[in-house]
Amino acid sequence: MRYFNLRPLIPLVAAVAFGFAAFGQQTASRGFDPANMCTTCIACDDFYQYANGGWIAKNEIPAAFSSWGITSPLREKNIATLHQILEDAAKNTSAAKGSNEQKIGAFYTSCMDEPKIETLGAAPLAPEIAAINKMKSTSDLPALLAHLHQIGVPALFGFGAVQDLKKSDSVIAVTRQGGLALPDRDFYLKDDAKSKSTRDAYAQHVANMFKLLGDDADKSAAEAQTVMKIETQLAQVSLDRVSRRDASKQYHKMSPADLKNVTANFDWATYIKKIGAPKFSEINVAHPDFFKGLDQMLTSVPVEDWKTYLRWHLVHDAADALSSAFVNENFNFYGKTLNGTKELQPRWRRCVVATDQNLGEALGEVYVKKAFPPEAKARMRDLVNNLIVALREDIPTLDWMSEPTRQAAIAKLNAFAIKIGYPDKWRDYSSLKIERDSFIDNLLRSSAFERQRNLAKIGRPVDRTEWAMTPPTVNAYNNSLMNEIVFPAGILQPPYFDLSADDALNYGAIGAVIGHEMSHGFDDQGRKFDLHGNLTDWWTEADAKNYTDRANCVEQQFSSFRVEEVGLNQNGKLVLGESIGDLGGLKIAWLAFQKSLQGKPRPADIDGFTPEQRFFLGWAQVWGRKQTPESMRQQILTDPHPLGRFRTNGPLSNMPQFAEAFNCKLGDAMVRPPDHRCQVW
Ligand SMILES: [Zn+2]
Repeated sequence: MRYFNLRPLIPLVAAVAFGFAAFGQQTASRGFDPANMCTTCIACDDFYQYANGGWIAKNEIPAAFSSWGITSPLREKNIATLHQILEDAAKNTSAAKGSNEQKIGAFYTSCMDEPKIETLGAAPLAPEIAAINKMKSTSDLPALLAHLHQIGVPALFGFGAVQDLKKSDSVIAVTRQGGLALPDRDFYLKDDAKSKSTRDAYAQHVANMFKLLGDDADKSAAEAQTVMKIETQLAQVSLDRVSRRDASKQYHKMSPADLKNVTANFDWATYIKKIGAPKFSEINVAHPDFFKGLDQMLTSVPVEDWKTYLRWHLVHDAADALSSAFVNENFNFYGKTLNGTKELQPRWRRCVVATDQNLGEALGEVYVKKAFPPEAKARMRDLVNNLIVALREDIPTLDWMSEPTRQAAIAKLNAFAIKIGYPDKWRDYSSLKIERDSFIDNLLRSSAFERQRNLAKIGRPVDRTEWAMTPPTVNAYNNSLMNEIVFPAGILQPPYFDLSADDALNYGAIGAVIGHEMSHGFDDQGRKFDLHGNLTDWWTEADAKNYTDRANCVEQQFSSFRVEEVGLNQNGKLVLGESIGDLGGLKIAWLAFQKSLQGKPRPADIDGFTPEQRFFLGWAQVWGRKQTPESMRQQILTDPHPLGRFRTNGPLSNMPQFAEAFNCKLGDAMVRPPDHRCQVW
């Protein structure tokens, strides 16, 4: 279950959780490379192309990926390190039983046992299918659903623990909309030709999965229509993606007794008891309209249709742990059709990713010992501190903000928790049993372990030591509920962070990443949380109005960015937070970089570029990327992160510092006239 306000730097790998790829020979990551640039391009026309055109011309997307960028070899390098760790752990059959090493070795071994998985086919699902078939009426649904949720099948809705948005030191229960297997509710509701053809392909895929479970063609086709009908009804009562950026629209705290007023036809008491949640007195029903709609469906949808729907979600969720017929059918739709990926990733790579997903901190603990030098952590801490100083000095210069709001903003900045590399306290997996003999059993036990770990938090104080990403992850995040910024070890390497590179490059790349995460604390949604992580309004009315005017400027700019290849514009409302993060992050990184130059001899030009130019090149090159049209389409429709070319050209076109560094003039595409320039922080 996602945090309400987890805001990663880079799109999180979506639907194809287990889908992945061959990249052949490992290439060591390096920092900025002039060979990636386009020598005939003009910086002031299209800086993204200027910085990355050489790389774009020379590289193709590998068959097993839907997108490939300058930073992809870094991710592959981390995967290769994990692969080596897991191969070693798999060979070591004498690791102490119950130790983390035994668990990661056993999990990976069970996943790699393809012959056994192939022989079993769909057999591992038989007990679950039998339980679904036993349903006699809709009143059996709560107990069955609780069981399916326990083993990790996210049918119908979500349930778990969450920080209280307005009392951030306590954890309460939460229930959320869910139950869709297409990436967004709009995929069910939109009427354009592309949406319709995607739905047709989806229905065919659902039917194919039923066929693999042994149903005949006619029955499978009818079952697929049943699934479409139920999911479309759920989509109709689901909150849209833009609204779901807004935490205040998802805060409806009530007592468990009041759940009846929302969903009278669902026996919550049975569900809560069966799922094993501790007794609780408060629950956030994040999406009440969804549960009201669901309530009506509980009386209108026949029990046989619910069985069909649940069987679909069971096989859908388990597909990648079953035999190749299921894996390939799943890939055909989610990999090929939805993302334009041509080839399934090799098994070893899918198994490395699965181990990271299920035993991430057990694996991560070994990873950081091997791959994360202490000096990287120390240098990173210095950089973060420099950025914090820069933002603290910037806030008083903002003429649109009143003194009380300014003081509250500085107090929030001063309270940022900073996490670098890996957790101080590792997750305790001691109650989780992992054996070499059955991959699916390992997955079921891991899901149940994670479910119980999550539910056990209800009613307890918030654990501020937790991490929401594993250490090898090439990403970073801001969590407004914790008022924290988090940088896993995986991203603290070239081309983001290069211990051997000049400061200009590091400030432009990892410096702007740090600034980006800090700025999330003050983006259009982050600004609604205070220094303790509470959703509360600390803005004067006039300051809030000034802020919104500035945010609207960014929104309009991004809504104007169009990708002709897929016939879509970016949705400025969806990407607003990330775009404010980039714009603010670059400015803060720039200020920190300027400060780092003070009192020292001016650094020499390198590769023919001034330090100022290298700052902007450092930023631009982390976004150099090629994507399939399908992947771009997915990102534009569902991801709050804009495409890399807009993350490069969007913010830089608002920065006079950029224009000056490259001697761009008013009238150039990369220079906005002063009255069209956006600036928030
Ligand atoms: Zn972000």
